[in-house]
Amino acid sequence: MTRSPFLVKDALVRGTTYLREHGCGQARLDAELLIAEVIQTDRVHVYMELERPLTASEQDELRELLVRRGRGEPTAYLCGEREFHGREFFVSSAVLIPRPETETVVEVALHEAAALGKDAGTTVRLLDAGTGSGCIALTLALECPGLAVTALDVSADALAVARANAERYSLGNVVDFREGTWETALRSGEQWDIIVSNPPYVTAEEWQGLDRDVREFEPELALFGGEDGLGPYREIVAGAKSGLSRPGILVFEVDPRRYDDVASIVLDAFPHAIIGSAVDLTDRKRVLTARCASLHEPGVTT
Ligand code: GLN
Repeated sequence: MTRSPFLVKDALVRGTTYLREHGCGQARLDAELLIAEVIQTDRVHVYMELERPLTASEQDELRELLVRRGRGEPTAYLCGEREFHGREFFVSSAVLIPRPETETVVEVALHEAAALGKDAGTTVRLLDAGTGSGCIALTLALECPGLAVTALDVSADALAVARANAERYSLGNVVDFREGTWETALRSGEQWDIIVSNPPYVTAEEWQGLDRDVREFEPELALFGGEDGLGPYREIVAGAKSGLSRPGILVFEVDPRRYDDVASIVLDAFPHAIIGSAVDLTDRKRVLTARCASLHEPGVTT
């Protein structure tokens, strides 16, 4: 007796049901992405291959991916990539998975860089402090070829992912990668016109409330911002006193609940800064900008 073949459309139905039963919020989408991974296509093409039979080894591979997803492992890690600002980026468990809200950081930084570039008439130097997958730094380098981009991370494993992404977009020799802490980089004597960062900003209290998929699988180093979630901002802002040129601009992703706290940290160090905000796709203040002028700033130690 021959068994009827197991088709992509069967996999879609069964995979979606399995993931739904295991509590995945986006069961259909995840099933599509995992099937696409197994048959080596993209999500849209899954629907053009609905009648295609899966080989025995493809079925095994899919079963394993579904089980891992069912246990909470994020689809982006299982597929090895995630879309950000219209491009695919490699990811591994060494880096935070790019979030849609972080696209707002990119938009704001592009806007600020364009304004600064026009005034300065020279190359604008930009530092991405804590680059992770490199999604912010590389998107900026691609969207604004005149920028001189430095991508910094304390994690060698994260930098390896960022470098792979740079190669993918032929930016291997364009973006300057640095391994180290932001204190070291910002106090080295070098200066940048724009410092962008999506630092870890989850508080100790929020940690337990994070989605299991995030808490158990994404790097704590990229998420946990210390007891009050503000430590990394204090460190970057302190470093910016010497590492940010004037005029210079800070662009931070923030938790909207702590926007005001981050603004206070910036204003303590740069009392004359002009603070601005941008909202994310859910209309909450997700990005803080600070334009720090050259004039008479007390406390400037450059
Ligand atoms: N937005 C992430 C989350 O909600 C946190 C990102 C960060 O700490 N930079 O899990």
